[in-house]
Amino acid sequence: MTSDSNIEPVVVVGGGPVGILNALGLARRGIPVTVLERNEDVARAPRAVVYHWATLEGLERLGVFTDAVAAGFLKQDYCFLNWRTGERVRYGLSLIEGDVKHPYNLHLAQDRLVDVALEIIERESLPVDVRWGRAVIGLQQYDDRVTVTAVDAGGAPERHEASWVIGADGAGSAVRSLAGLSFEGFTWPERFVATDVHYPFEEEGYDQTTFVVDETFGAIIVKINNDRGSGLWRYTYSDPLAENREIAAQRLGRFFDTVLPRESDRELVAYNPYKMHQRCATTFRMNRVLLAGDAAHATNPSGGLGLTSGLFDTYLLVDSLAAVVHSRQNDWVLDRYAHERRRVFKELVSPTASANKRLIFGSTETPEGGEAWARVRRLGRDPEAARARLMFTQQLETPAIVG
Ligand SMILES: Cc1cc2nc3c(=O)[nH]c(=O)nc-3n(C[C@H](O)[C@H](O)[C@H](O)COP(=O)(O)OP(=O)(O)OC[C@H]3O[C@@H](n4cnc5c(N)ncnc54)[C@H](O)[C@@H]3O)c2cc1C
Repeated sequence: MTSDSNIEPVVVVGGGPVGILNALGLARRGIPVTVLERNEDVARAPRAVVYHWATLEGLERLGVFTDAVAAGFLKQDYCFLNWRTGERVRYGLSLIEGDVKHPYNLHLAQDRLVDVALEIIERESLPVDVRWGRAVIGLQQYDDRVTVTAVDAGGAPERHEASWVIGADGAGSAVRSLAGLSFEGFTWPERFVATDVHYPFEEEGYDQTTFVVDETFGAIIVKINNDRGSGLWRYTYSDPLAENREIAAQRLGRFFDTVLPRESDRELVAYNPYKMHQRCATTFRMNRVLLAGDAAHATNPSGGLGLTSGLFDTYLLVDSLAAVVHSRQNDWVLDRYAHERRRVFKELVSPTASANKRLIFGSTETPEGGEAWARVRRLGRDPEAARARLMFTQQLETPAIVG
């Protein structure tokens, strides 16, 4: 689709999944978009893999679902493993079959989702200009436009005029700082180490999504793909001392010797330590600047609610901003976007992700841990309790404000 030459471009800062999907969605509505991305290529460090069932209709509306499914795979199972006792609790998305359109989760590494979206943009000649290697360093707001300044790797500046700017530049967002907004909340003292590893997990009795519950050996284990028969898996654990990649690497081998003892069947492909936050921008809108994804809110990834929230931001923002750009709506819809997405993060996403983290990486021997494990056990024997838990992600979506 081509754009109307009278429409001023929207500038999206950040070429991660939220930035690229916003660009694709706006371009599909005839709005030209310039994406400014600091890196020279799609970021490949291991991060999100799981897209909850409730996010899939939105990917379908963006025209990305079919290609994303072809690049990844769909699955239904969940398993909690109590590391100390060996007890396993299983339930699955088959419980909501017949109630929802997509009763399964999609597994696909987030860099591959970005690749898929970029391929669609190119194949369909959508009006998106992705400018790699451009770090945004300046932002000037006027009544009717915004000027964005970026520099390339050599430090050469370039200026872009935009009708609106979407800051999708991640948790360390320059756009958020340049708009004068703070990032309220806290940073957890420990790091998460995310690894991509080949290992015969299924032979060892693991399900495709397994939460290992333990204060020392807690982990989130998720199958990424079926490569080489046993598949590539994302194994994420908590390490209070993994301050950087070097220290994480030194400690990783010893940890894996305990948890993945078949050394000759184990091949580490990638790893990265991450700081974890529960933080939220003071507002998601400052005049003509809108925040989305991790630039707006950051959570620890237990339960996979980070990009999930960024996707739900995207679905609402694309509809709302397109309606404003095409003069079908007053900009109050953008205030509503900012208010509702912030409320959902603070009231639902962040407390749930924190509770997930405390459960998975905590002890089941404390009174609170024992109660949390009792609630997990209930999921295995009470289909209504499991169903309620599975339906929770739907509450994180804000229904479209405009028609
Ligand atoms: C280990 C781990 C596992 C996770 N698993 C899941 C999961 O399974 N499910 C889930 O929903 N979420 C998960 N998450 C969270 C998910 O990875 C993030 O929510 C997601 O990356 C947010 O996407 P984004 O596009 O908003 O930001 P990012 O992915 O951080 O992208 C921001 C982009 O902006 C660019 N940028 C930054 N500054 C500038 C600048 N000044 N100028 C131009 N460009 C700039 C960056 O280079 C980057 O490409 C996980 C996170 C981690 C750490």
